[in-house]
Amino acid sequence: MTYSLMIHGGAGAIRAPERFSESLRRIVEAGAGMLACGAAALDVVARCVSMLEDDPLYNAGRGAVLNADGAAFCDASIMDGRDLSAGAVAGVRGPRNPVLLARLVMEKTPHVLVIGEGAESLGRAHGLVFEDEAYFVTPERLAQLARAKARHETSLDHAPNAHGKLGTVGAVARDQSGNLAAATSTGGLVNQMSGRVGDSPVIGAGVYADNASCAISCTGVGEQFLRTSLARTAAFFVESQGLTAEAAAQEAIAYLVRKVNGSGGLIVVDRNGRCGAARSTPGLLMASAQDGRIIVGTEGESIS
Ligand code: ASP
Repeated sequence: MTYSLMIHGGAGAIRAPERFSESLRRIVEAGAGMLACGAAALDVVARCVSMLEDDPLYNAGRGAVLNADGAAFCDASIMDGRDLSAGAVAGVRGPRNPVLLARLVMEKTPHVLVIGEGAESLGRAHGLVFEDEAYFVTPERLAQLARAKARHETSLDHAPNAHGKLGTVGAVARDQSGNLAAATSTGGLVNQMSGRVGDSPVIGAGVYADNASCAISCTGVGEQFLRTSLARTAAFFVESQGLTAEAAAQEAIAYLVRKVNGSGGLIVVDRNGRCGAARSTPGLLMASAQDGRIIVGTEGESIS
């Protein structure tokens, strides 16, 4: 395999998944085009996740769901499999592309995870694009929040009764040099309490990349992925047990369900460029590209 790429748009009970197929195809093709031209895996996952963040179909960046106070706070992470360098942000407001802010943390600071105003200041200092509240707080998001509040619930955007049409996003890639990278970005859970942070910005829970094993991006109920260190657990299955991406994804989801009855999914590209995905939810929106062969679908099922 000369290059491999997978992207996801969230897990859950996905109504009419074909609504996402054009967007998923456009984004995976853009990333595959970069990889075919020799781009680095790190640049490709940052680009793909930025494109997913710009599309209001997904629960990240522009389409981020609203918390209990009616505000959109974003979390994002990125990891470079060459040397395990990583960057993440949590509880940030305003950056158009939270994944690029996570990359700034990785490349411009000695830190891994920076939250809130400190992270926002870093972004402004480096000229990152910021948007005002109207960009994120759409009438659809407000209506979704009102429904969640009426039911007194906190939910995945794709939860069966959430009436949502968005999902956390992620990308994993192996470039032509054999380097791996992963990135994840989210608005969190609909109606989450102010200050709540899930797995997406936590290295080893919602994201992981190591050239010695694989690159992983997760989506689902963040607390369950945090408690099981799920991304690192999946990498362990590849590194120490020699499993393929597909087998490691299945094993990781089996572990998530066995340990905490968890709900979600993950995408994996291993060091040999094999792709794998698994879920415990009814659906997982995803697309993959391996040396020009593109598949767009929910896990196990093609939607276009
Ligand atoms: N994992 C995200 C969180 O818990 C939500 C999602 O994947 O949709 O914040």
